[in-house]
Amino acid sequence: MAIPFSLIDKAYNQQNNFENLQELKNSSVKERLKRINKIANYINEPKNVAKITAALSKDLGKSEEEVTLSEIYPLLLTIKTVTKNLKRWSQDEYLPTPLTMIGLTSSIKYEPKGHVLIIGPWNYPFMLSINPLIYAIAAGNAVIVKPSEIAANTSSLVKEMISEIFPTNEVTVIEGGIEETTHLLAKKFNHIYFTGSPNVGKVVMEASAKHLCSVTLELGGKSPVIIDQTTNIKTTAKKIAWAKTLNCGQTCIAPDYILVKKEVEKDFIAAYKQAITELLDPQNNGINNSAYFGKIINKKNYDRLINLIEDAKEKGALVSDYSLASKENKFIPPVVVANANNSMSIMKEEIFGPLLPIITFESLNDVITQINELPKPLALYIMSKSSKTVDHIIKNTSAGNTMVNELMMNVAHPDLPFGGVNNSGIGKSNGRYSFINFSNERGLMKRKWGTHKFIYPPFNKTIYKLLKIIARV
Ligand code: NAD
Repeated sequence: MAIPFSLIDKAYNQQNNFENLQELKNSSVKERLKRINKIANYINEPKNVAKITAALSKDLGKSEEEVTLSEIYPLLLTIKTVTKNLKRWSQDEYLPTPLTMIGLTSSIKYEPKGHVLIIGPWNYPFMLSINPLIYAIAAGNAVIVKPSEIAANTSSLVKEMISEIFPTNEVTVIEGGIEETTHLLAKKFNHIYFTGSPNVGKVVMEASAKHLCSVTLELGGKSPVIIDQTTNIKTTAKKIAWAKTLNCGQTCIAPDYILVKKEVEKDFIAAYKQAITELLDPQNNGINNSAYFGKIINKKNYDRLINLIEDAKEKGALVSDYSLASKENKFIPPVVVANANNSMSIMKEEIFGPLLPIITFESLNDVITQINELPKPLALYIMSKSSKTVDHIIKNTSAGNTMVNELMMNVAHPDLPFGGVNNSGIGKSNGRYSFINFSNERGLMKRKWGTHKFIYPPFNKTIYKLLKIIARV
């Protein structure tokens, strides 16, 4: 049901006025943490955990364990990190002042950006709406959250939760799709934090340009895994099977495609299939009956993924059995697409599903060429025991994040910047990086004594000579 624009305008105006933004700006660390604690209390309450789990099970078929590990636990970790560090992050930071500026003191004041908009995606629809919210509150902003309409059950739960714990002037949720988001995007915000696809990221950036509003764009793309002959194929296959099937492959940093050394391709495919069975169907009940393998978000995405498989097949790919796929149940089993190449649609867009294209390589040059032919990935994974190979790949490519001999775990590090580069994103998140996204680092200089009038005209020749000597590098 469309949200009347008048309601959106009312919520926006309740937040976007000088008095409200000033009050939030001047709130103490203690007050901000008190607000954040309301989120902790909500998600620690067993009856609310049950509601969150039910919504995510309906939207994405997530198991209770998956909800705990990937939607709730990361929020608790964020709250811990913020609680521990907020005082330090928000304190004025004094810097040494260069000798040439003698008499002045320099510091950085962290002030909230003011009024911020958070737009969430559907794949981790709870966590990715609430996680940036925690940081936005920590920095002292008024916040509008727009969760994804595609995960409808979770969106309405986020709305219910926020209305229960926050007054509208502090945080409010506007539900809706393109129309409502477009209406919001036309308004003047001080920062927009968007998580979603590169295409919609461009829409957000264009809209924000009208107000010269800053943006954080957490986007996606094709994240490759490079496997060479030195790696332990069995362990590598298990890690990839886990990362590719978590949330049914609908994870921004999921391995998108494999670049494998020709001589170990067959071993890898066999080990990958074996690992899928071990992880998701150890009793051989059929992977469609697995308690730990979710579903495709909707029929539109189901069709998109099946089209990718069919297009690849037509163009010569060797596709593993996917006869268990069911549109009715929005179910697609993990599918291996061997013999893939860049002419196939599956290599032209982010897959965001349990399909794994495999491209073989003979030399590291092939790897570098392949990676650099596509937009810079959000994540690049290297599975190799050779530090020479690892260094060579890192030196000759660019990616938002890189992991060596592991997958996806970097996102959980509270102090490691997380985010893309160009097409896969703009700006970094996690820990202090997220706090900074929502803060203005206001440079402050104060004159304590003296003057710099010797740099004003008319110039004194001797002082001018002296300045030239001091300025020399
Ligand atoms: P999406 O871009 O389709 O939608 C994201 C949000 O934008 C939703 O709230 C949606 O309502 C809104 N939206 C959609 N079309 C719009 C339009 N034309 N104008 C204005 N608003 C619009 O993304 P999605 O399908 O929800 O999520 C999947 C994408 O998100 C993938 O590309 C994935 O890689 C990326 N993602 C990135 C991260 C990250 O941290 N980098 C995390 C999760 C997902």
